[in-house]
Amino acid sequence: MELGDNTKCLHLADEDTKIHYGAISYPIYQTATYAHPAVGQSTGYDYSRLQNPTREHLEKYIAQLEGGKEAFALSTGMAAITLLFEIFKPGDHIITEADLYGGSIRLFDNVSKKNGYEFTYVNCAKDDIQKHIKENTKAIYLETPTNPMMGVSDIAAIAQIAKNNNILLIVDNTFLSPYFQNPLKLGADVVIHSGTKFLGGHNDTLAGFIVTNNDAIREKLRFLIKTTGAGLAPFDAWLILRGIKTLGIRMERAGANAKIIAEWLKNQKHVTKVYYPGLPEHPGHEIMKKQAKGFGAMITFNVDSKYNALKILEKVNIIKFAESLGGVETLITYPTTQTHADVPEEVRLKNGITETTLRLSTGIEDSVDLIAELESIFNQLD
Ligand SMILES: *Cc1c(COP(=O)(O)O)cnc(C)c1O
Repeated sequence: MELGDNTKCLHLADEDTKIHYGAISYPIYQTATYAHPAVGQSTGYDYSRLQNPTREHLEKYIAQLEGGKEAFALSTGMAAITLLFEIFKPGDHIITEADLYGGSIRLFDNVSKKNGYEFTYVNCAKDDIQKHIKENTKAIYLETPTNPMMGVSDIAAIAQIAKNNNILLIVDNTFLSPYFQNPLKLGADVVIHSGTKFLGGHNDTLAGFIVTNNDAIREKLRFLIKTTGAGLAPFDAWLILRGIKTLGIRMERAGANAKIIAEWLKNQKHVTKVYYPGLPEHPGHEIMKKQAKGFGAMITFNVDSKYNALKILEKVNIIKFAESLGGVETLITYPTTQTHADVPEEVRLKNGITETTLRLSTGIEDSVDLIAELESIFNQLD
């Protein structure tokens, strides 16, 4: 029987409780190397670049949460994406969502292109993806909801297009975490996470994950981790394991706060637009209801002037003006100069990111305090 979504954050289906003296918290194996019993024999671990028990334990949790055969824990989300892109060859073409995390666009434009990869940026929520598939197309890469404009694409429908054309569908699932959305179960081939965000959940640790059911990709990735060495360190693996224990209740609470704040923002005179898929009028609302268990804790909104946008960033106190998302503390971000600063201006504007756009990641504070702070700031705007 499959475990429930909250139990999956706390226990493995095939848990062995007799090992490690029954320790409830998994030990941190802070070791670089392992003694061998004899030549040609191994304890199962040889060197921590290849594998470490604490990292392996975390990988089992991530695989279980996403419904994948295997997960790989890397030092950051970007390390995960970089490693995954080593499976492609010069000349390969990848179709990617245009409104991606800025760091992914920076990687594709400045590093992957140098490796001979070709990219076509599309709006996966609206464009006809099939039309962009060519002889050398190897993958579709998307985020849903997108970062930061909260576009929603239909994972199952795009997975079908990928299957029909014998190409891979890769989904960066960071914004919803495996608690709210499981792209592999909807037909995706590979899932990416920045574990720095909701999985870790405390704004204190960097991590990244790749999850897949594809045996050929699993084999390649295991070889690549051993060879390139971006595996997650044991202590950081333990911090993410601890974060995951409360993933379910954090997602529920942060999501509930997001809904309350999105509704409130809608009625503010300085707010010109609210992008939150949990609002019934959001164009992706119905798709999201079908493919995800919750709408997440990310809200993007526009205010009536750049002056007011900067003023909000300057005045926040409980809400922190900081990059990143998905932690217990509420953060507000200015995509134009922060997360998406390296995205060319014309691309930013085409995606809808302007100098009046703000992105909020709601934490688990009392929503009344968050609203009280925003209200007092909004009252001081011009
Ligand atoms: C933060 C983020 C990344 C990059 O992850 P890091 O852990 O910061 O390297 C990738 N994708 C999305 C959607 C993100 O939010």
